[in-house]
Amino acid sequence: MIQHNPVMRICIACKKTFDRKNLLKITKDHKKGITFQNGMGRSAYICTSKECHSDSKIKKKLQKALKTNLEPEFIDIFEKEIASYNYYPDKGI
Ligand SMILES: [Zn+2]
Repeated sequence: MIQHNPVMRICIACKKTFDRKNLLKITKDHKKGITFQNGMGRSAYICTSKECHSDSKIKKKLQKALKTNLEPEFIDIFEKEIASYNYYPDKGI
């Protein structure tokens, strides 16, 4: 019997370990620049908890994790992207 061990990664905000499938991956791709969920290069992971997305230091943590300065345009995309990962059943979205 083959056992598939999930690939575990650490959320840059809460430092907890999660199955990679449940994390939002942000990659600094050599060619494409910053990408979400795909791309090759240095990657950072953020879990789906609202606390981590609304962490006031999340951008600094991302910059540190990716070893790059994030453009304001990226921050906009990032904020929209993480918002789409939040699911609020009580709001009926
Ligand atoms: Zn987290």
